[in-house]
Amino acid sequence: MKTNILNNIISEIKNYSSGLINLTEDELSYKIETIKKKAEKESLENILIEWFALTQEASYRTIGLRHFDTQLKAGILLHDGNIVEMKTGEGKTLASSLPIALNGLSKKGVHVVTVNEYLAERDQKLMGKIYKRLGLTVDLVKSDSSLIQKRKSYAADITYVTNSELVFDYLRDSSSYDINELVQRPFNFCIIDEIDSILIDEARTPLILSDAEVTDNQNKLIIARKLARFLKKDLHFEIDEKRRDINLTESGYDIACQKLGKVTLYDPQDPWILEVLNALKAENVYKINKDYVVLKNKVYIVDEFTGRIMEDRRWSLGIHEAIETKEKVKIGDTTRTKSTITYQNFFTLYPKMGGMTGTAKTTEKEFQDIYQLNTVVVPTAKPMVRNDMPDLVYQSELAKWKAVLNKSKDCYISGQPLLIGTSSVEKSEFLSDLFKLSNIPHQVLNAKPENVKRENEIVALAGQKNAITIATNMAGRGTDIILGGNPIYKVKEKLFELFIEKKEKIISAELTSFIERVEKEYKIKNSFSKLYDDIINLPYTLDDCFLSFKELYLSLYNQIYEEWKLENETVKNLGGLFVLGTERHETRRIDDQLRGRSGRQGDPGVSQFFVSLEDDLIKIFGGNNIQKWVEYLMDDKDSPLESNLLTKSLENAQEKVELFNYDTRKNVFQYDDVLNRQRKAFFEVRRQLLVEKEPDDFFLRMFEFSIDDFLKKVKTKENISITTSKTNSLEKLIESYTETPENLNLMEIYQESWIKNDLRLARTNLYQLGLIKESKVKNVLKLFDNYWTAHLERMSFIRETINWRAYGQQNPLLEYNERAYISFKEMLEELRNSMLYCYMDQKIFTYEKYKEKINN
Ligand code: ADP
Ligand code: MG
Repeated sequence: MKTNILNNIISEIKNYSSGLINLTEDELSYKIETIKKKAEKESLENILIEWFALTQEASYRTIGLRHFDTQLKAGILLHDGNIVEMKTGEGKTLASSLPIALNGLSKKGVHVVTVNEYLAERDQKLMGKIYKRLGLTVDLVKSDSSLIQKRKSYAADITYVTNSELVFDYLRDSSSYDINELVQRPFNFCIIDEIDSILIDEARTPLILSDAEVTDNQNKLIIARKLARFLKKDLHFEIDEKRRDINLTESGYDIACQKLGKVTLYDPQDPWILEVLNALKAENVYKINKDYVVLKNKVYIVDEFTGRIMEDRRWSLGIHEAIETKEKVKIGDTTRTKSTITYQNFFTLYPKMGGMTGTAKTTEKEFQDIYQLNTVVVPTAKPMVRNDMPDLVYQSELAKWKAVLNKSKDCYISGQPLLIGTSSVEKSEFLSDLFKLSNIPHQVLNAKPENVKRENEIVALAGQKNAITIATNMAGRGTDIILGGNPIYKVKEKLFELFIEKKEKIISAELTSFIERVEKEYKIKNSFSKLYDDIINLPYTLDDCFLSFKELYLSLYNQIYEEWKLENETVKNLGGLFVLGTERHETRRIDDQLRGRSGRQGDPGVSQFFVSLEDDLIKIFGGNNIQKWVEYLMDDKDSPLESNLLTKSLENAQEKVELFNYDTRKNVFQYDDVLNRQRKAFFEVRRQLLVEKEPDDFFLRMFEFSIDDFLKKVKTKENISITTSKTNSLEKLIESYTETPENLNLMEIYQESWIKNDLRLARTNLYQLGLIKESKVKNVLKLFDNYWTAHLERMSFIRETINWRAYGQQNPLLEYNERAYISFKEMLEELRNSMLYCYMDQKIFTYEKYKEKINN
């Protein structure tokens, strides 16, 4: 969007806004309703100006904050589907309220995605007041919410949720068997806070929903093996050498059923077909010392092209277990991935999204290439005055840590607050030990989920005089460091001391009378436990607290605010927050994130990195030049070298690493892309089936597909001969019609399948109306999931092997895509056929089972 257009919109918003200031509450409500009416007919873009202005006014009247111009700008850009870079502390939360409120009008849902539950709850509570004033519904999804709660939360106009909960809910929905268990609606619009952390740093981590460990079916495998050794080639089964596949003949199928005492091998409650076919393949197709070897009581796959033994790899779909049974070695554990997706892929499910962070510019290209998202930098409201000093380079790590310690002592003595960033938990703990030995009081922050709440408390006080905080890179994102400490937090702490901890302290007479009033009021209203919640949730719920408590809060706040103002001045005079990095991270973005903790909203501040020639970044990527150069320039081993040029060459090294990491992520993305598209299509159909009220149409459609497919194969004489694989019910059905498949009348076959289905339904409906329909859907959904899992396993196997095969001319990605296409197509075909087996002409296990049930 062009700057002048943006500026025009901003001034129009402000113009409209100025007309709202003097409205009464009722008049404002009326205005809100008018625009909402308009929104029903017009596009969101057409009401952006009015609605942003109303949101601004609602914000001022509910939480006392009026959006700055920079926030209006960010809001427009977010609505437009951009990534907005705004420095830490510039107010991204409030900026995002504008597009969130606007898109909330669509009634199709807005998801606001944050990195942890603490932030989701904080933002939802505060921003929620604005949305409620605008007559929009807002809710929060927590990891411990019930399904009913979750569904309600996702049904709200606006939903706050963490990235991981959002994705797991999606995965759970995708594998649900009951329409009443679905919690999410189709996706519409999302805003991702700290977008780089989710889409770049965590992009490669797939989220996996796995099935509980598959029950031990060792017995089944052994029985299947016995059966396989009994069955005779050509009489009972046929081998397709080229496809390394095995089919049962009709008599083979019957004998297998008979030997196993089963009506069908496809009973979803107790299926045998896979075990039987696998056992046959293990006996007749897979050869020891060629396809696999047995070493140390384990079966290892041998790569057919390179002859390499592939460790930690297993054949999927139960083949490996069948071979282990054949070779009488220990049968490996089987956990199955039910469903999986990466963040990269998940977020492409949204038709529209926007994102925000303090650090996006250095990854601009990646956001563009992979997500087609533009990055726009919104300048700070007040000029940035932080002093980013050139790096200090030490020869040895020891010299570096000594210097860090000395600097920390200096800060502690002067009182300037210090934030030290470390690259790992171990290093932060090492430094903490060092500080303990030197009697330097300090706090340690790490990003463990259970510590997130405490984390925010530490951050709240990290800007106080004398505060020293050691943090790992990612810790504490989302909370800003206020010089002199966060006054609101201090008030809460005081309230906690007064009412919960009841510490013995000298309390003024005024305070004592306050305490008495509050305790009395909560007691009278019989809601003493509410007091605890009220304190925890401050300041967002101040309006809902009892009057005495509200008055106490405000009085304490005024007092502490005065104290805070003095300390804020003092810390500013000390130079603001000093940010000390103890190592350059692989990517500049993470370093910038650390620096960005200082210099909030025009505050003074300093940042500097202490590095050593023994740091990984320099050792691995710095090249020999830096080393030689530094040694040449440095005469004293302990004193550092400080040079802009050196800083520059470190940044060059970082750029190299960034590019390398970007390539790997892009590679992952490209490989995932095809599966992702298949996933979308597959789960859309699954979902349709799940919510479909009349699933019969769906089944019949699938049958017709199968019939078409089959006839096509017959006509092209491809790979199928009617006389050999008679286990297929469809083939039997067709065969009963005519001798020459070429002359089949399609319509007749269709009709036959319809009639059969109707008959079956009529028959089972005698027992209980709708009985078979319900169990039918459930069983088919199970088939869906089994086939999808198998497809995933097959694809990950192909993925692993393909790079070995593709040495030379072929493009592995191309080949992978082709194989993915084939595998998917085959999978769908098999799935459809299995549905046929289950429902068309078996002596219907469900029917038998239900009869049994009724008789008992
Ligand atoms: P960011 O996410 O960009 O790091 P936050 O959204 O956490 O920043 O906001 C930082 C602080 O700025 C918060 O304490 C917030 O209350 C304050 N703030 C944001 N917008 C405004 C505004 N328009 N007027 C006054 N204070 C604001
Ligand atoms: Mg934030």
